[in-house]
Amino acid sequence: MTTDVGLAYCDAKARIYFDEEREPLADGGVERRVERDELIPAPRGVVPTILPGRRPLTTTGTESRRFALAAMLPAGYTRLLVPAYRKEPGAPALPLFGYTYACVVDDELHVAAMRTDESEDWQPRYFGEGELEALLDRRVASDPHNSVLRQVAKCSREYGCFTAQNVFLERGEAALPVSPKCNARCIGCISEQEPDAGLPSPQERIVYEPVANDLARIGIHHLERVEDGIVSFGQGCEGEPLLRSIEIARSIELMRVAQSNGTINLNTNGSMPGALARCIDAGLQAVRISLNSFRPHAYAAYYRPIGYTLEDVFASIRLASERGLRVSLNLLTHPGVTDDAEEIAAMEALLRDIRIDMIQTRTLNIDPEWYFAAVGRPVHPLGMRAALEKIRAMHVRVGNFTHTH
Ligand code: SF4
Repeated sequence: MTTDVGLAYCDAKARIYFDEEREPLADGGVERRVERDELIPAPRGVVPTILPGRRPLTTTGTESRRFALAAMLPAGYTRLLVPAYRKEPGAPALPLFGYTYACVVDDELHVAAMRTDESEDWQPRYFGEGELEALLDRRVASDPHNSVLRQVAKCSREYGCFTAQNVFLERGEAALPVSPKCNARCIGCISEQEPDAGLPSPQERIVYEPVANDLARIGIHHLERVEDGIVSFGQGCEGEPLLRSIEIARSIELMRVAQSNGTINLNTNGSMPGALARCIDAGLQAVRISLNSFRPHAYAAYYRPIGYTLEDVFASIRLASERGLRVSLNLLTHPGVTDDAEEIAAMEALLRDIRIDMIQTRTLNIDPEWYFAAVGRPVHPLGMRAALEKIRAMHVRVGNFTHTH
């Protein structure tokens, strides 16, 4: 078994230390030692963080005078394990981030992750002093009454949202948020947390209903300037776009009158096949449907759906596939859930039945203990690498970004 894996931990001031004499345990649904080939040196853009009120678990027991450390991965990587720790009474809820196992090897921080996609568009971004602000102000001034433009300017500035910034950078995939309401109540929703959740949502959900003209003007502007550009309804700052399928269909029609290039995509929870059909009739070309599980109980425990079930989501996936759209699943992955043998069997059953072009393995941003409490710990975890191999064995592309081809 591995011996050169050492403990990376924090003191109460969140300063980071290494202790190569201690080997930290990992949590893959069951607590275990990490496999050496599950580790990679921490890539550029990794953010290490303290886990307040939590003590790291090692092969020799709980480190009661040290705080556990986790890492947040940059885009393009899939998490394989979460850190193992013991929570102290009164410890605060962890904010919505993708906590990844981290340790030290040869005096260098390593993480349990795999590179699963590459795209120039998703590399970490750095703007000069006032550079982004100037870009936003100039564009908003060119279309001052466009409420969607003001929204994506805010998302670019305050949340660092890449697809919102792309509207102003005129590159890649551009954001078109459209819906203030949602028909799910995900326990890890990033745009709206319930008052009694005990933690803030990372983003503020839009509060108004954008109109087709505003949406279309942004889409047309983008496609005029980005030949193989993507415009995407369904963003982190909104609820469920299918609740506004009439407005989406209208804006697609307006865009397609003006521009025939690029891709019109929809990110959705797939809850309403009928509404999706309306968007497809209007010219939708690609869809990315989000789910955390292919099993009804685990899906319902996380999404807490209102008026629909996982069967409706499967019906939307089938519809989009049969209508010839480019179909991606946005699989919200979590070690110990995504790689449980039962979960993989349910996934394989769907992939055998419906053509899917890509599964985006998105690291689910949530307090691991909170998630396991909601969906349950695994019976037989096979490991995240095995889960990704199973997807590839079904001839389905694994990735993290919506590509134009
Ligand atoms: S489907 Fe999206 S917007 Fe709706 S609750 Fe879930 S994460 Fe939030």
